[in-house]
Amino acid sequence: MDIGALKGIGPKTEKIFKNTGIMTTDDLISYYPFRYDVIKRSDISKLLDDDKIIIDGLVETRPNVFFFNKKMNKMSFKINIGTHLINVVIFNRGYLKNKIDIATKLTLIGRYDKMKNTIVASEIRFGMLPNIPVIEPIYHQIGSITSNQIRMFINNINDFSVIEYVPDYLKEKYKLIDKKEAIIDIHNPNSELELKKGLAYLKYEELFLFMLRMNSLRLNKKNKIGLKRNVDRALVDKFINGLPFKLTEDQALSVDKIFNDLNSETRMNRLIQGDVGSGKTIVAIIALYINYLSGYEGALMAPTEVLAFQHYNNLKKIFDGYNINIELLSGSLKQKEKKDIYKRLEKKEIDIIVGTHALFSRDVVYNNLGLVITDEQHRFGVNQRSNLKNKGVTPDILYLSATPIPRTYALTIYGDMDVSSIKTMPSGRRNIITYLKKNSEIKDVLSLMYEEIKKGHQIYVIAPLIEESDKIDLENVNKLEEKMTSAFGKVCKIGVMHGKMDSKAKDKVMEEFKNGDISILISTTVIEVGVDVKNATMMVIFDAYRFGLSQLHQLRGRVGRNDIQSYCVLISDRETNRLDVMTKTNDGFKISEEDFKMRGSGDIFGVRQSGDMNFKLADFKADYNILLKARDDTLYLIESKKIENYPKLVKLLDDSINLD
Ligand code: ADP
Ligand code: MG
Repeated sequence: MDIGALKGIGPKTEKIFKNTGIMTTDDLISYYPFRYDVIKRSDISKLLDDDKIIIDGLVETRPNVFFFNKKMNKMSFKINIGTHLINVVIFNRGYLKNKIDIATKLTLIGRYDKMKNTIVASEIRFGMLPNIPVIEPIYHQIGSITSNQIRMFINNINDFSVIEYVPDYLKEKYKLIDKKEAIIDIHNPNSELELKKGLAYLKYEELFLFMLRMNSLRLNKKNKIGLKRNVDRALVDKFINGLPFKLTEDQALSVDKIFNDLNSETRMNRLIQGDVGSGKTIVAIIALYINYLSGYEGALMAPTEVLAFQHYNNLKKIFDGYNINIELLSGSLKQKEKKDIYKRLEKKEIDIIVGTHALFSRDVVYNNLGLVITDEQHRFGVNQRSNLKNKGVTPDILYLSATPIPRTYALTIYGDMDVSSIKTMPSGRRNIITYLKKNSEIKDVLSLMYEEIKKGHQIYVIAPLIEESDKIDLENVNKLEEKMTSAFGKVCKIGVMHGKMDSKAKDKVMEEFKNGDISILISTTVIEVGVDVKNATMMVIFDAYRFGLSQLHQLRGRVGRNDIQSYCVLISDRETNRLDVMTKTNDGFKISEEDFKMRGSGDIFGVRQSGDMNFKLADFKADYNILLKARDDTLYLIESKKIENYPKLVKLLDDSINLD
């Protein structure tokens, strides 16, 4: 059913959904919650400061509302929870003032400030809590459509269709429920057990399809003969020597491997992995050059338009003076321009083509494609439906990944794909010195910041992450802004960025930070991906314990982008293993290893970290044990040829980007 036809959805909402690719009710039902709230009365005596709290009681005093400006107000009152009174503070609900009277029954959800005996509420509900706990799904907001609205719309869906990919015998083996039931359960769990069962099916299916794809790639490769080329190594070395820098040891090693792969008869199927900034791109470019020298076309595929454009510019610059035709196939091109590129590709007038997965849309026919490089493993996505039409040979394949995985795990996940790891960072890069501080040590933090400001450097400050409510996020950002302004307001300009700003306002702040007008940027985690400000040398993260390890690593990676010493300050009153790891190492491989080790420790109600491989529910580190099962199961299916009994799976493999 078209999303616009669903009960409750007007033209405006329809448009927002459709702009994000949710066209039908089936699409909406596969938009999964990223977290759950367990609505159950908190035992206040057991709460720590800043813990999440859910409490009900009777209003004791009439609310006071204080207006900051047109958009912001703060309401406060006292509530009697039976044993004692607590203060309640809630932002931007001034309009409820008249509904809240003495003895009104209320439920409040928020954070508990133990010192002040105050709940900073993000949600207020009329009525008392039910006696049994309620599990409530929380969705990432879509544009202005809130989690609550999404939940309501999903509940309005009467029926939907699914394709169940997991074969029956495996469902039996793991006692998995039907997919349809699983989907209903994760949107509307009646109990923790139901939620677990729902997640079990869906996670397994995701990892099963992923491993099916990986294993089929690997088994296909065995009987695939690739291109034999005869490239003069001296020409390659000449190109490398002409670069503005010397390759690191690991880069040079990767280049050697690629050179041998390309010159040998077996088809190349290699993955290069390394942290962001480790210099994978230049290795890819050298591979493209080798491929060019042997007379074939090369394609470089990036996950986003922005990255594709960046690669394109980079290639243009590096190959300036070489007679190499490079083109960008961008989604924003006019139909006519696209057609023109298609034509030239077919006629072999383009040597290197850069783009998103549009490179593999059905309209594109290559003349003699010799090498395909995919940045950030894009092609592993099982949902990509397209086909590569290549008139020539089977191209060699190179993948780039910024999600480093230690060797032992990589072997499992990538099968016998060849893996090169770039562990050494380009010379001149220094380790980012990482400090762990408590909130009570804020003075130390401010003086560390001041040192950087004095040097003319810039600083990111990440406000506490509270996913349940934009309003609390806003409050945190505002509080921090006050703090920072009182410390640095006279010395430098401070900028603020948060989820409630529209993209124009965000762009403006980002621009001011990039050109150095703003010295301190306070932000929730919405800092755009790919932000690269070389002069930023310090990352300060408040309530760092709330972040996952790879998130912390990624945030820290925004500084240390040149040869100036950079710093990261993690502020947390709670000590965690993760924070320790962060202070001890900068090495993405080690950090990844720790993530694997802590697997299984994530509880089902926790926030999902933004997935490394674009899984919707599974996390290949936390759910590594499921992945191992999926690996064995899919290997068996393919090797025993049993897969032929499952046309759905065969079709899926045929449909995913096919480089064969
Ligand atoms: P990533 O691995 O994240 O793709 P890039 O390839 O974008 O990293 O490299 C990051 C930066 O380091 C780029 O500006 C690049 O020009 C530079 N760089 C790459 N290799 C070296 C090197 N061997 N020496 C110095 N700088 C390098
Ligand atoms: Mg890159």
